[in-house]
Amino acid sequence: MKVALYPGTFDPITNGHLDIVERALKMFDRVIITVARNTSKAPLFTADERLSLIRDALNHNDRVEVEFFDGLLVDFARKRNVSAIVRGLRAVSDFEYEFQMALMNRKLDEAVETVFLMPNEKYTYLNSSIIREIARFGGDVSDFVPPAVQEALTRKSNKG
Ligand code: ADP
Repeated sequence: MKVALYPGTFDPITNGHLDIVERALKMFDRVIITVARNTSKAPLFTADERLSLIRDALNHNDRVEVEFFDGLLVDFARKRNVSAIVRGLRAVSDFEYEFQMALMNRKLDEAVETVFLMPNEKYTYLNSSIIREIARFGGDVSDFVPPAVQEALTRKSNKG
């Protein structure tokens, strides 16, 4: 059984992330999505909110597991018998950081491979922080996020 690990902050999950999950499901039997609870990025959504928005967006697909993880990814990968870490590559700008992470993870554990998947080109300019910014000012993000995320963003911006 081939298992992929897709780690991220997902603040919030976007259609770009979902595109990567769908591609991973074509190559792997299962995908474990890990949500970073502690992040230096001061997230808009709490960890619980981010996790439940992901579960919701994936329609509780039984080939996908969603859980919190903050430790060393290679430890998680080893413990859960993960075949590969999956990351999305949108543009050259992602490359340097992702390359560094992949090689560092390999240095920490030779057995852990990283696989990069390219999203549909319509998502290559999409990231969570742009979505938060547009939603904060009442812009339409319906092409970029699942409906539940759109509603959650509207609730946040009405509160703030
Ligand atoms: P992190 O804080 O780990 O970068 P993100 O939630 O921002 O977490 O991203 C998780 C992964 O998803 C990263 O590999 C990132 O490159 C990828 N990703 C983010 N947005 C997109 C997108 N629009 N298309 C494809 N991959 C994406």
